[in-house]
Amino acid sequence: MSSPGATRRLDWILSPEPHPCPRGTGAGLAVGVLALQGDFREHRVALERLGCATREVRHACDLVGLDGLVLPGGESTTIHKLMESEELVEPIRAFHAGGGAIYGTCAGLITVARDTVEGYPPTLGIMDIVARRNAFGRQVASFEADLAVKGVAGAPVCAVFIRAPWIERAGPGVEVLAEHAGHAVAARQGSVLVTAFHPELTDDARLHELFVAMIRRRDGAAGASEAGTGAPGAAEPDRHAARRAQPAAIRNR
Ligand code: GLN
Repeated sequence: MSSPGATRRLDWILSPEPHPCPRGTGAGLAVGVLALQGDFREHRVALERLGCATREVRHACDLVGLDGLVLPGGESTTIHKLMESEELVEPIRAFHAGGGAIYGTCAGLITVARDTVEGYPPTLGIMDIVARRNAFGRQVASFEADLAVKGVAGAPVCAVFIRAPWIERAGPGVEVLAEHAGHAVAARQGSVLVTAFHPELTDDARLHELFVAMIRRRDGAAGASEAGTGAPGAAEPDRHAARRAQPAAIRNR
């Protein structure tokens, strides 16, 4: 019991402290989640289950030392405005140019695209796709569907679409990983992965595993070519030392 007028901290509204599973496929990797708006908390939980050490990214300095970065779902216009006001646009581009892997879900797909059909919001332009916003309809038209995703072994993925975009056009360097109703909804290009749906809202970790495998493959580490195979990657933090060198755009701030 506390006396009238006393206050108690609402710790549950804060993001969880990292408790990475020490033996998962992501052990030894540091992955940031852009935490300006949207469902960043759920991505952290999913990544930590795989063994990644996670960090919320709100400022350019938070990118230092990361192997990967997740851009969560939310509202792409808001996320872009906040990225601009926090001066994160160029540092995230530099993180990508320096070899950092990026996974954009839903609004995150829009954020990484070369452009949008609507022409707004401005995008990071780090993936050769054109996104159509709200392509499947309004919030009330949100749905889930079982999808076969290339690179994800086993049963179809339960894909949750919430006012989701689709990929209207993709350049020749883009590999489409999944389609729904004839439209591309998952793809990768180099070190950038996107899904129009939200794997962080289900218990299925295989898309996050695919992202972890992309990070490891870029570093030449063995044993993580396909997600969902159940083969845990070894923790090899030293292989990532080079990635942790600060990108110039961050170092010079
Ligand atoms: N429709 C939103 C946008 O345009 C994205 C929705 C989501 O991330 N679930 O930003």
